[in-house]
Formats: sequence, structure tokens, C-alpha cells
Amino acid sequence: MIGRHNPVKWNIKFKIRILLGGMSLNVLLHAILDILPHSYPLSGKIDVILSLVIYAMLIILMNRQYIPVFLSCFLGRTLPDVIDLGSGIFNKIFDTGLPTVKIFPWHWPQYSGSIFDGSNFYISFINHQIVIISFVLTVYIKRELILKAIFRKQYDEVKK
Ligand SMILES: [Zn+2]
Repeated sequence: MIGRHNPVKWNIKFKIRILLGGMSLNVLLHAILDILPHSYPLSGKIDVILSLVIYAMLIILMNRQYIPVFLSCFLGRTLPDVIDLGSGIFNKIFDTGLPTVKIFPWHWPQYSGSIFDGSNFYISFINHQIVIISFVLTVYIKRELILKAIFRKQYDEVKK
């Protein structure tokens, strides 16, 4: 039962604030990561497939009450790419002529940190390591909270 694991009474205003906050924060994080110089160690196809598999696994494992928050964060993280890059990718795959307009400044050439020519390898490598280490440290430091809040059911069953 969902309510049993929910220590906070989530009123609708609070829910909307959390959903919009998660979405906005992820748009901001997307912008920061796109502005930092970075190359792409994985091919676009593998990157998208691997990401979708991880997202799907998390949704399957996750306590149902947190799925809307997770999806709002996912939307914030994904929508800028879908809006700015979706038509270009669609054109490439289906050989169509949809217009491609980039409205998010971090996708414009003068602000984007994307590196496609193999230059600045070490800067990109260091930035990737900073992101990975930050992620692992955050998950480690907040492991109790993550286990309790997101995977509460599994966590309770492991502790029994
Ligand atoms: Zn982007």
C-alpha cells in the first residue's frame, strides 16, 4: 500500500512544487553539463538505449509514489534535447526535411561544450570523472535516504 510508506502528507501545492522543482533543476543540470567541454565516449544509439534501460529498471524497482517525481526530473533532463535535437535526429533516420531550431542556448555552437573532433580529450575526461565521482559520492552519502525513500519496500524486506 502506497500510503503506508508515506510519512509526509503530500498536498497538491506541495506536489506541484516538487514536480516543477525537479523538472527545473534537471533543465539547469542539463544546461551545466552541456556547457562543460565534453566528448562522447559512447555512440548516440548505445547511449540512448542504455539510458532508457536504466530508466526503465529504476521505474520498475521504484516505490510507485515517487514515479511522478522521477518522470518530471526525466522530462526536465530530456525535453531540451528532444525539442532542439529531435527533428534533426528524425530527419537523419527517416530522411525527412523537418525544420531544426535550437531554442536552448547551451545547444548553440557558441555555448555548447560538445566536442566531436577528439580535441581536448583530457578536459572532457576530467569532466566525465567529476560527474561520475559526484554521482557516486552523492548516492553513497545519501544511500540511507535513497534506500528508504525510493526502494522502501525492498529495503524493508532486506532488513527483516
Ligand atoms: Zn542537450
